[in-house]
Amino acid sequence: MGIRVSRRVVGIGAAVVALTSVVGGVAYSAGTAAIRTSTPRSERDVTNIDVLRQQLRNYYGDPLGSGTFGADSNYAREARSVAKAGQRWIAAQHHTRKTKAILLDVDDTSLVTWNYEIASNWAFNPATNADYVLGQKFPAVPGMVDLVKTAEREGYAVFFLTGRGAAQEQATLGNLTADGVGIDAGYPKPTSLPNGEDGLFTKPAPADYPTYLKQACAADPNGACTTIHYKSATRAHIESLGYDIVANFGDQYSDLRGGYADRTFKLPNPNYYLP
Ligand SMILES: [Mg+2]
Repeated sequence: MGIRVSRRVVGIGAAVVALTSVVGGVAYSAGTAAIRTSTPRSERDVTNIDVLRQQLRNYYGDPLGSGTFGADSNYAREARSVAKAGQRWIAAQHHTRKTKAILLDVDDTSLVTWNYEIASNWAFNPATNADYVLGQKFPAVPGMVDLVKTAEREGYAVFFLTGRGAAQEQATLGNLTADGVGIDAGYPKPTSLPNGEDGLFTKPAPADYPTYLKQACAADPNGACTTIHYKSATRAHIESLGYDIVANFGDQYSDLRGGYADRTFKLPNPNYYLP
């Protein structure tokens, strides 16, 4: 996922930082994204990674690692309960004079990538991942199609905002909605904006950034937007066109930080972390 491309970049950045601190004791350089966490004092402070993988398979109701998650798994239950909470919130909002909107991330917010986690043994690779994205192989996150359909019925505009690259836009739209290729998750079509944008925001290459991204990300490394800047600047852009983003759904904290939403909803995803 473009988002995962950034994960890969982040991984490299983190490795560089680690190496730097071993060699020179240098602190994090400005703008370097890395996962900040604790350092275990003992192996007893962490879960063995093979045991952890088994716990994740159990959580997804897929103890043998077939790649198909269980409809009754704890994962599915947890995702459905977030979708329900979103539905209750959306139904209760009548205050805004702007056009009400909901905004959703794609990977592991709207579509479940569990089959790819299993196939890749949790090791993201852009080439093998593209096979799943372009083949439209991801099923819907439990509860989320109902939520989006309900929002649409209640007059909400529907926007998707993903770190997947612009080259994956058509396949992403096909997987989310219905185009007869691979899996059709059955989401309503995203809402077209008054300026002609199609309501599914994929991440452009820096050379193709619209003005609002160029401005928001000028100080980011190489002028390439961090996930938080890319997503929050896009939400700001959407709101500048007359929408109120009443609810923002994401599986990563970087989907949710940076404002421009009345409320945020975190979908479960213990498989990867994107700063
Ligand atoms: Mg995601």
